Amino acid sequence: MTIKLVEPKATAAGDRRRGERRLEFAHAWDYAPAPEAVDHVKILPRYELFIDGKWQAPEKGRYFDTLSPSTEQKLSEVAEASAEDVDRAVRAARHAYDRVWSRMKPLERGKYIFRIARIIQERSRELCIVESLDGGKPIKESRDFDVPTAAAHFFYYAGWADKLGYAFGGRPVSALGVAGQIIPWNFPLLMAAWKIAPALACGNTVVLKPAETTPLSAMFLAEIIQEAELPDGVVNIVTGAGATGAALVAHPDVNKVAFTGSTDVGKRIQKALAGTGKKLTLELGGKAANIVFADAPLDQAVDGIVNGIFFNQGHVCCAGSRLLLEESVHDLVIRKLRDRMATLRVGDPLDKNTDIGAINSRMQLEKIKELCAAGEAEGAERWSPPCELPAKGFFFAPTVFTGVAQSHRIAREEIFGPVLSVLTFRTEAEAVEKANNTFYGLSAGVWSNKGARLFKMATQLEAGVVWGNTYNKFDPSSPFGGYKESGFGREGGRQGLAAYLHVD
Ligand code: ADP
Repeated sequence: MTIKLVEPKATAAGDRRRGERRLEFAHAWDYAPAPEAVDHVKILPRYELFIDGKWQAPEKGRYFDTLSPSTEQKLSEVAEASAEDVDRAVRAARHAYDRVWSRMKPLERGKYIFRIARIIQERSRELCIVESLDGGKPIKESRDFDVPTAAAHFFYYAGWADKLGYAFGGRPVSALGVAGQIIPWNFPLLMAAWKIAPALACGNTVVLKPAETTPLSAMFLAEIIQEAELPDGVVNIVTGAGATGAALVAHPDVNKVAFTGSTDVGKRIQKALAGTGKKLTLELGGKAANIVFADAPLDQAVDGIVNGIFFNQGHVCCAGSRLLLEESVHDLVIRKLRDRMATLRVGDPLDKNTDIGAINSRMQLEKIKELCAAGEAEGAERWSPPCELPAKGFFFAPTVFTGVAQSHRIAREEIFGPVLSVLTFRTEAEAVEKANNTFYGLSAGVWSNKGARLFKMATQLEAGVVWGNTYNKFDPSSPFGGYKESGFGREGGRQGLAAYLHVD
């Protein structure tokens, strides 16, 4: 790899602000491309449904393409599961539950789950490439976060399999039966791990439906499940769009539904399940506030802000999409933030230097553009660093809006893109009021050098997760989930077991 140093251009001294001058320096370094090699990854031209331990063709013979959002090229095609296919998968899961999985010694169940974790680690180089190709996220995210954290969830819950009797103060527990699990496109493999690992550890069997734009890593996970020699039917994976998900939710022999996705669909699922007795957990949207006090370590906070909204293209339900700045440091933080944003590299997800990859789909890109246009129309000031976007693929430059009012759509609606809305506050009480002024309640961040303030804010913020002087930190032992329209139930940790057990 060669690194070229380009002389900074002369700046018109005096009429430029400090941030813009530093921006010239940020562009002084030109990185040579550092694409990850992909020739060792074998993506099949077509994937069938994974039912009862085998690849089975869909009854109606329908398939749909899955594209790379960074090149718009077809990667493969996957089966579209009809209600009949979903029924076949649920029957396979029931059979496996009755005959094998519910009868197996918990210690043995744990061994299978450990095996899945180890094979994920062994195949991590393939998995991260598939994840970045199919979803558009930068390889450094999928390589350093998604895949290792997915393996970590299987390791963590494997350890619980034979200790469930101790999880709830010695109260007896039992499995629920068949779990129907529906996941979104932002963390395809990791969401599958969040759902499958605790379900299996608790003795349930599973039918999983991946998102229609990112099915490929789930197809690789199916291969891993075969390689781990899990008994047939314990995990079934059915691909398809909303109708497939709806059929899974409606299936009478599903005992538990776990859903991660949009608040709209979550509400529909809740209505569909009302009165059925099926257990439900929902992890929905968010509009998190990242709150920076004047006494915070500001450089560290700026990195946390960038990590919170720009990495992973803002495709994170807990993204810190509202930045609440104490008024006295507003200008300073914005200047530092713009400097940092100017160093972000947008482009090929498979390049190891890329910070911001491709937006997951054309539809999502259009939604981001529409909300940004609304931000401008409502009077907020828009800024993005100079940044050349690739000609092909779905890309969007990191964007910050200042002068945002609480009534603006960009302050209220989930954008799910690399777009930050900045508001200000003068007192702690005002910060809490503004942060809580949302229908959502998934996460929040607080930056301050006073530990007591971090703890006090954490008790006042209506959010399932509150990060102090950091952002977007995850660990399998730490529960995650929302309040209000961000859903209910917790995933991760001991609390995550409760979603998959009867606790007497
Ligand atoms: P996003 O906006 O993140 O794409 P969605 O809620 O539309 O969120 O999708 C999340 C998951 O829910 C996807 O797997 C999708 O196919 C599935 N889904 C969409 N509509 C329905 C529905 N009516 N019932 C069940 N699942 C659905």
